[in-house]
Amino acid sequence: MSRSFIVAANWKMNKGPIESVEFLSEFFSLFTKWPKCEIVIFPPAIDLVSVARMIEEKPLRWGAQNCHFEDNGAFTGENSPKVIAELGADYTLVGHSERRKIFGEIDEMLAKKIVAVQRHNMIPMLCVGEELSERESGKTNLVITEQLKKGLSQANLETKIVLAYEPVWAIGTGKVATPEQAEDAHAVLRKMLIEIGGESLSERTPILYGGSVKPENAAELSKKPNIDGFLVGGAALAPASYAGIIKNSQLAF
Ligand code: PEP
Repeated sequence: MSRSFIVAANWKMNKGPIESVEFLSEFFSLFTKWPKCEIVIFPPAIDLVSVARMIEEKPLRWGAQNCHFEDNGAFTGENSPKVIAELGADYTLVGHSERRKIFGEIDEMLAKKIVAVQRHNMIPMLCVGEELSERESGKTNLVITEQLKKGLSQANLETKIVLAYEPVWAIGTGKVATPEQAEDAHAVLRKMLIEIGGESLSERTPILYGGSVKPENAAELSKKPNIDGFLVGGAALAPASYAGIIKNSQLAF
């Protein structure tokens, strides 16, 4: 079974509604032929309405960077998965390392968020990844497989799930994992998916790499058999470099 190649942009807390729309019109103008990969934008929640309107006519998907696990209630400052889905989102990111580290999100909470995202027929994109100290002490495989098992512990495994392997030491640091380091981690995750949900889940689940992906390193990374796309932070903030990543990984799709 062939997996779709996905190039996703995580804008984090950058860009407002006007800048988002400006980005998209410039981005669209950079393609004479629309690429065959899946393109997904994760804008800040406050931009979702303007991005949704802008994307309506384009073969582009979008989602939220986070959501609460309840649909409504006394959760000041949070965003409801129900509302995100009502706006038309296809995806929601779950467990980005910044959510885990800065906002204290733990695996049990992330498992509930995956249930909430699926309850509203969106696709969860679950992020896993080790800290530098964990890699240096040989714990990478243990850390990422635990995050994966716990994250998917209550999930519906029959519908689409996307994973992103994002080593924390490579996020926003300019230090990219080598294609071999990324491939090794992806292969470990793919094997764990067999244990969690069988061959079919493992075969059909795209595993993206994230961590300082740029146009210059996308081609090499994309050649690895278990790398099914990218989750891009910094280099997805400018239309030309985001488009450059897509164009340079074209051999993979
Ligand atoms: C990210 O935030 O998911 C990410 C991978 O960031 P960067 O590309 O800037 O390392």
